[in-house]
Amino acid sequence: METLERIKTVTTSTSLEEVQRRADAGDSQHAIDAALRLKYGLKCTADRVLSRSYLIKAALNENANAQTRSMAHSMLIFWYTAGREDTVRARFVFAAAYHANEAVRLVSEKATGSDEAPVYCASANALLFAMNTIESLTKDMTVPELLVHSKWVIQASDERKAYMHLERLAAEKKMMKKPNRYRCAKFGCGIEADTGKMSSRCSGKCDADKKPYYCSKRCQKEDWKNHKLFCRQGAPCSVIDTATATVSGGGTSQGSIRVPVHHADGTTSLLSTSTMDPEMLKEMGAALKDAKARAGLSTLRMDLHEVD
Ligand SMILES: [Zn+2]
Ligand SMILES: [Zn+2]
Repeated sequence: METLERIKTVTTSTSLEEVQRRADAGDSQHAIDAALRLKYGLKCTADRVLSRSYLIKAALNENANAQTRSMAHSMLIFWYTAGREDTVRARFVFAAAYHANEAVRLVSEKATGSDEAPVYCASANALLFAMNTIESLTKDMTVPELLVHSKWVIQASDERKAYMHLERLAAEKKMMKKPNRYRCAKFGCGIEADTGKMSSRCSGKCDADKKPYYCSKRCQKEDWKNHKLFCRQGAPCSVIDTATATVSGGGTSQGSIRVPVHHADGTTSLLSTSTMDPEMLKEMGAALKDAKARAGLSTLRMDLHEVD
């Protein structure tokens, strides 16, 4: 939405005709601008096909900088896949795979020789497309030909996954060291923090390494009857629930809290938020558990939900 607002502001200053004129003269930035206006119908009639032709103009323009071309390729992935996830036609998958691959290749080549890791400057669209679509279609070799067209993007997505794995191990190590910090000490609460800390902790005399952390003042208050006997120097830790927090690694935004929802079939969903308060998040978790139980076990498959 924010992007859309920004585009709306831009569209007031220059007319579409002027933007198209510059795009036709070979300016890739303006080609992307024209494509966006035509896609959303901003002060013009939306025209999907014309929008695509401007994206292609920008993507194939050899005089344009690699970042702009890569962006145009990334936007083309959407053109071929948006709104038709279940029914993407075979030739559309190939087109999208081609554009995902180009989106990565262009910025990777540019970064060759620099210290910067090439793959991380590739767009998230391209990597997501590789992880979600290309991988699932090539895993069982349903469409093995896709691999031929996707060398760069698959490599980028593999490296991204390896990086996320390392991040996950580091997060795990950090959590193991000070498990109290990432889990609300109120027994049964279940709220966890990711890389940030819990919102409140005991400010009493208990030892720093045994201090309980809480998701809210409310939990802290409710746990006081349990903790007060332990709130002195040298006392043992009062935290009853000593399980370490669930490590998700990479996926969540920093400073968010989350609640794991354990389902009857043994799977766990992780609900995550950076804006909601803990009570609301717990309510949502309970609702999700309910919904899954009612819907039957296999219909809802999810690992991580960012709810905002
Ligand atoms: Zn709590
Ligand atoms: Zn204390």
